Amino acid sequence: MDAEGITHTGTYLAAQNRGFRVNFGAHTDRSVMVYGQTEVTADLYEARDAMGGTIIAEVDGVTLNDLDTDAPFVTYLRDGTEHRIDADYIAGCDGFHGPSRQAIPKAVLREFERVYPFGWLGILSDTPPVSEELIYANHARGFALCSMRSETRSRHYIQTPVDEPLDRWSDDAFWDELRRRIPNDSAEALITGPSIEKSIAPLRSYVAEPMRWGRLFLVGDAAHIVPPTGAKGLNLAMGDVHYLSQALIAGYDGDDSMIEGYSEMALRRVWQAMRFSWWFTTTMHRFPDQTPYAQRMQESEIAHLEHSQAAQANMTEQYVGLPF
Ligand SMILES: Cc1cc2nc3c(=O)[nH]c(=O)nc-3n(C[C@H](O)[C@H](O)[C@H](O)COP(=O)(O)OP(=O)(O)OC[C@H]3O[C@@H](n4cnc5c(N)ncnc54)[C@H](O)[C@@H]3O)c2cc1C
Repeated sequence: MDAEGITHTGTYLAAQNRGFRVNFGAHTDRSVMVYGQTEVTADLYEARDAMGGTIIAEVDGVTLNDLDTDAPFVTYLRDGTEHRIDADYIAGCDGFHGPSRQAIPKAVLREFERVYPFGWLGILSDTPPVSEELIYANHARGFALCSMRSETRSRHYIQTPVDEPLDRWSDDAFWDELRRRIPNDSAEALITGPSIEKSIAPLRSYVAEPMRWGRLFLVGDAAHIVPPTGAKGLNLAMGDVHYLSQALIAGYDGDDSMIEGYSEMALRRVWQAMRFSWWFTTTMHRFPDQTPYAQRMQESEIAHLEHSQAAQANMTEQYVGLPF
């Protein structure tokens, strides 16, 4: 990431085909890094191999056992044979659909959820980014985002109904719709090409509390989901990893206080990112039942962001990521 990532010190917001820049540099000395999530995963696998660690893949029936004792263990099936791993602690980093969260008793788990009435249709293409920084566009036809993976690979999204059939969207139809929603000068400059990946993602805000039960720690999407507006998901997961690593190091040194406090500490940060992602999603998307009043409020919010340095400072503080 340090070698290949692209540093951004601002972002563009747009409404009705006209954009303006939020300059992070005017409000903070921090920046954001653009680097593909799949590259992060590849780097982590490489690092694990370099440590001589073992990764066991393609298993079924993963079950977490005796979490509320001092001797938890995980069982799984591989090639029809059951295996068992005994552990001091279990880090549940298995995403939203994994078995870790389900292992917490229903009577203990509290869930908070908001499902948004739309999704993001995204395509990846080997075309240069239309802008050197991201463009988040609010438009009467729906939200759009111009993002990138590198100088030569772009990632673009448009808001669609969540049950939209993917085959309705040829590459040409996607590019035409994107052009209608982004600033006019960007629409003219947009270089299009064939998609190399195309998918629809639902938008959801979700938090599970607590993030620790006995010897199990929930980490990342296993405990929380944010809508992708503002790019907080993987960053939050890394925040959890940071707190958990500190807690385990202290725990093995004989101090369990951070292990006891992991859930509370991680959740403080999680709820701040929840608030930001919810606000940014609500501000930039068209809701199917949007009243004229709600519409004017949204326009006023974006105008406030354009003209108030205080509003830009507020957005910047959260966008560049809270310290941990
Ligand atoms: C469209 C979109 C755009 C996004 N953009 C950004 C962005 O720009 N920036 C950002 O920070 N975040 C972004 N995110 C969010 C980000 O992808 C997630 O928050 C992040 O991947 C969470 O990491 P995780 O390791 O917790 O979970 P995951 O990435 O879901 O990983 C979980 C892992 O657990 C494994 N697993 C599941 N079940 C089992 C099992 N039974 N046994 C063993 N292993 C299992 C899975 O195979 C997977 O490898 C985006 C998300 C979407 C949908």
